[in-house]
Amino acid sequence: MGSTKRHLWAGLALMAGGCASAPPPAGLSDAVTAGTACRTSAVIIAFDFDGAAPARCAVTGERAFTLLVTPEHAPPINPSPWYAFRYEAAGDAPVSVTLRYLEGRHRYVPKLKDGAGDWRDLAADPSDDGTSAVLRLPAGKGLVAAQEIVTPGDATANLAKWSAASNAPVFTLGTSHDGHQIKAIRLGRADAPKLVVLLGRQHPPEVTGAIAMEAFVDALAERAGTLGEVQVLVVPMLNPDGVVRGHWRANRGAIDLNRDWGDFTQPETRSVKAWLDALPSGVRPVLMVDFHSTGRNLFYVQGENEASPAQTRFLAAWLAGREDAFAGYPFTLEPRNANPGSGTSKNWFHQTYAIPAYTYEVGDNADRKATRAAARELAGGMLGALAALGE
Ligand SMILES: [Zn+2]
Repeated sequence: MGSTKRHLWAGLALMAGGCASAPPPAGLSDAVTAGTACRTSAVIIAFDFDGAAPARCAVTGERAFTLLVTPEHAPPINPSPWYAFRYEAAGDAPVSVTLRYLEGRHRYVPKLKDGAGDWRDLAADPSDDGTSAVLRLPAGKGLVAAQEIVTPGDATANLAKWSAASNAPVFTLGTSHDGHQIKAIRLGRADAPKLVVLLGRQHPPEVTGAIAMEAFVDALAERAGTLGEVQVLVVPMLNPDGVVRGHWRANRGAIDLNRDWGDFTQPETRSVKAWLDALPSGVRPVLMVDFHSTGRNLFYVQGENEASPAQTRFLAAWLAGREDAFAGYPFTLEPRNANPGSGTSKNWFHQTYAIPAYTYEVGDNADRKATRAAARELAGGMLGALAALGE
């Protein structure tokens, strides 16, 4: 640990003692519990909801706070510094919140959810080196997060929506470390021979991938009665513990789930594997798509050395040549040969079943409306490509 970090951690000990000791200020909610909130006589900052990151909070003024944004386990960790908190501020003046990143740089444009439930971008003033950023919050109440918050509860609501549209039941694949159910739905006939597997939210902060996945599955659920020889397994929330706890990357077991395909040391990945192992002999995976987020829109696909002619034809039928086909949602195709033993879902599905297996990466700042519109089109295109190739 370098001297800068030592200094930071020493400061933290002071911060921790300085928070949450005052009584609830008049006119502000008393629902927050000591130890989870940072408060002055005018302002409360709290971390008491699913998706909140339990950041260390320091009072630096009557209307000024510093939050230390830290990863859930020791470095190295993917630089996806998630933050989420809510606040209540009496009076008219804005509130200043400084985010200080440990093991990361300012990445996500902060989003503010107002009383009407709408999310909008919030201006942030990052430091030159990106290790901190200052936010100015309007007085009143609000919820601030690195991206829109999409919780396991939201995933459950989406599953109910898809179930209503398709008449397919929601079922449970397994249970996470924290006891959350890993829920899924199967669209199409259980004996349809061609199985498409759709995975989501292995990585908690990757919300734009979840936004795309919802629209993608919406389009499939509407056509569930016409899938014919195709069935689709949808697992929208593979890492509920990490999402609820505001993790940057890992599950509750401090494991990056997208490095666990092959070893299957974690209950979340194992739950999918067990379901696949129990498939009847006439049903076989033909495609896997795993939804994520990164700096820009892209699909990681098999490298030229490893894609069979049939897999190359499928890529051409679905994605190749359509990189600029969707208004506001350009993407690239990024062929990557498998790193043996890398543990990604992409490589495991490709190597285990000899099928196309893609990572559907949506840019952090992708236009949300265009992301949804493109995802709906891409879902239809996927079915068309599967049908055209007769695979
Ligand atoms: Zn990811």
